[in-house]
Formats: sequence, structure tokens, C-alpha cells
Amino acid sequence: MEDTETFRDHIGTVDENTGKRIWVYPKKPKGRFYNARTYVSILLLGLLFGLPFIKVHGDPILLFNVIELKFIFFGIVFTPQDLHLFALAMITLIVFVVLFTVVFGRLFCGWICPQTIFMEMVFRKIEYWIEGDSTQQRRLKEAKWTSDKILKKFGKHTIFFAIAILIANTFLAYIIGIDELFKIISEPVSQHMGGFVALVIFSGIFYFVFARMREQVCIAVCPYGRLQGVMLDKNSIVVAYDWLRGEPRGKVQKSKEEAELKQLGDCIDCGACVRVCPTAIDIRHGTQLECVNCTACIDACDDIMDKVGRERGLIRYDSHNGIEQGRKTLFTGRVMAYIGVLIALLVLQGFLFTTRSEVEAVILRTPGMLFQKVDDSHISNLYNYQIINKTTEDIGGIEFRLFDPRGVIKVVGQVPVAGKQAIAEGAFFIEMETDKLESRKTKLKIEVYSNGQKIDEASTNFLGPVK
Ligand code: SF4
Ligand code: SF4
Repeated sequence: MEDTETFRDHIGTVDENTGKRIWVYPKKPKGRFYNARTYVSILLLGLLFGLPFIKVHGDPILLFNVIELKFIFFGIVFTPQDLHLFALAMITLIVFVVLFTVVFGRLFCGWICPQTIFMEMVFRKIEYWIEGDSTQQRRLKEAKWTSDKILKKFGKHTIFFAIAILIANTFLAYIIGIDELFKIISEPVSQHMGGFVALVIFSGIFYFVFARMREQVCIAVCPYGRLQGVMLDKNSIVVAYDWLRGEPRGKVQKSKEEAELKQLGDCIDCGACVRVCPTAIDIRHGTQLECVNCTACIDACDDIMDKVGRERGLIRYDSHNGIEQGRKTLFTGRVMAYIGVLIALLVLQGFLFTTRSEVEAVILRTPGMLFQKVDDSHISNLYNYQIINKTTEDIGGIEFRLFDPRGVIKVVGQVPVAGKQAIAEGAFFIEMETDKLESRKTKLKIEVYSNGQKIDEASTNFLGPVK
């Protein structure tokens, strides 16, 4: 029996004989999906480049400061103390991505992924603008180095690098904030050597990704792409070729009778869907890992169908079962199970989030210290405290109250003001009446007040002599 899966044995962008990369020159797509994707891209790019400038209470609306472990989501500050929330959010996100992929395949890749948006909607458009469509690009590649070729190539790569610098700056703005970024840009390089080096490295990486790596990121690097094989099933909606309607394919016949005689399907084997594909695959082979669901082949085929007077949708968003049995089953048992897990995670996340305190007091007995004798009737323990302020206001007038009549708290120096999104630290002694201690270790509760308002409480132990 003929092996119809041989196309899976090699990658369309690698030469089978030499093992060298085959550069892809996809034809410029046009059509309703491409237009819709262009509008979506403009919106998303506007958000990406605009959000770092938006502030809430003087802070960035989004910040992912992995260096200082400070994260801000829409004005809410998360610190390392919220690690459990962050970990749970990551698990929830993974379940959501799996669920979304099981139902809608790689819809994300085609419409939302920054790699596709920058590659197809920014860098590729510039390339079409400077070098022309695929045929002109090929010709330019083969042409001798004339002043026209030098100008085009130099101009293109200069613009590419300028955009890579812009992306790197934006990327850094999400990590350190726009104010810090402006300092790096405007102040002498010597004062921000680390930031400057980071900018240069990021710019180089982005340039390399979009000027050289291109579709290889989706084909060989992206872990999400690699996981498609385990996430997709026959009910997943993907960009699919209707093989029942299209096969057997064959060149368009002069007359209807001739076509009927040959019993041909609707695919006229024109290759338009292959020519526009940015990952150099033939969607008529079926769902492939390389397909980023960019919809270019849908537009190309619809255009051909219009020209030959046949119904659009030979290539369309559909599932394997949708094509084979004519029915779309979105809510399969597997999907329902994922939805159940996702809802449970969201409820837990919501509960933890709403009960999360904006101010946290951490009180720990100073390690390595035993109790000290104050006088004949009192002993003391030394403690270190931290007041973690996640709000956007300073917290002053802090005092500690011991929830136990047998002892008192004696703060070392003054309790500092806990600045917004900062930690106030210090130490205090707790003195207890020796006679009233029942055991070597006494559990104590300490309440923390700011200007007379209780803001948090913490528990700790008091060590005394063995009873
Ligand atoms: S097969 Fe179609 S949807 Fe998939 S990457 Fe190629 S052109 Fe885009
Ligand atoms: S564009 Fe449509 S008609 Fe042309 S080869 Fe592809 S599937 Fe067949």
C-alpha cells in the first residue's frame, strides 16, 4: 500500500539531500482573513507598545520585574510572598492553553502570538514593500550585487534592526518600567552599563529571530508548537483542507462534462495554497506541526474558488470529524474534563486572591539567640520584623501590640515607615514575666497597627528556661 504520510519524514524548509535550509519566499497573502488579522495585529501592537506608558497610582499598569521579583498586574502589586498565587496562575494558564488548543487548535499562533504578528505583519510587510512579492524577492536574491540590490538589502536590514531595537526597549520597559528605561536611554552609558548591555543583547536577538530564524522559531524552537501532537484531536478546529470535496484533485477542465467524466474534486491543483504558506507546507497533506494557522492558504484558496466559480471554503477552519462526518463536536468528554479543572482552579485562584492581604507582617525570633535575663523576674527574646507593604501608599505610625498580658514589646529604635511597595525592617524585644511561663516554648500572637488601625497579625514563639 502506498505510504501517504511520507511528507512527515522531512521538513519543508530543509533540503533533503544537502541538509541545508531552504529559504521560504511566501507569496504575499490577500483576502478577508489577512485583512482581519492585520486589524487585530494593529490593535495588539498598539497595546504592546502603549501599555508601558500607562500608569496606575504612579506605577506601571504591567510590570514583570524578574530581577527584583516584583510584579504588577493592572495596578495590583505581587511580591515574592505571593509566589503561591503566581504558581497557581501559571498552572491555570497552562490548563487554559491546553483547553483552548484542544478546542481551537493553533488559533493563538495565527492571530495573537507575537512571533507571528511581528514576522508576518511587520517584518514581512516591510520586506514586500522594499523587495516586492515572492518572485521579485527570488530574483533579487539571484541578482548580482548592484547599487539597487545593495540599497534594498541595506535599507531593509537597517529598518529591521531599528524595529528590533524598538522591540528590545519595549521588552525591557515591561521588566524595569518606562522610567528606568528612559534613564538608560537618556543618561550616560557608563551609569547604566548593565541596562545598556541588556538592550544591545535583546536587540541582537530580536533582529536575528526576525531577519534570519523566522519560521524556524515556530517549526523547531517553540515548545507550544511541539506540543500540538499531544493536544490536538480529531475534533479540534484547525485550518484544514476538505479532502472529501477537493479530491481527486486535477487541473481545471475546459468543460463541465470533461470534469464530470474525470470525476474530479474541487481542488484544481493550482498550488496557490502552498505558495503563500510561510512555513512551506502543503495543507492538503493534512494537519502538520509546521502549520501556524496563519489562514493565508484559506484566503488563497477562496480566491481561486471565486475565480473558477466554486464555493469558498475548500480550505477552512474545521475539524477532522467536521469534514469527515459533517458535524462539529466542541464539547467532548476531554474538553468537559479540562473545563472542570479550569473552573476549580479559577475558583481557588479567586478565593486566594480576594483573601490576600495587601500588608504582611513577618516576625521571626532572631536565629541563634537564646533568651536573655532582664532582671530577677523577667526574661526577653529578640525578634526581627518585616512589614511588607504591597499598596501604593506609604504606611506609617506602625506599632506592635502583644496579645498576651504577661509581657510587653520593646522596639529597638523607631519603627520605620513602610514605603509603598517596599519593606520596613527592624527588631524588637519581647519581655515576659518568668514565673508566668508554663513551658520552655510559649506561643505568642502579635498584632500590627498603623495609626491605630490593625493591618495584620503574626504568630511567633517565646523561649524561656526549661520548666
Ligand atoms: S498551511 Fe495554511 S494556515 Fe498553515 S501555516 Fe501554511 S498557510 Fe498558514
Ligand atoms: S489553493 Fe485550493 S484549489 Fe489550489 S491547490 Fe490549494 S486547495 Fe487546491
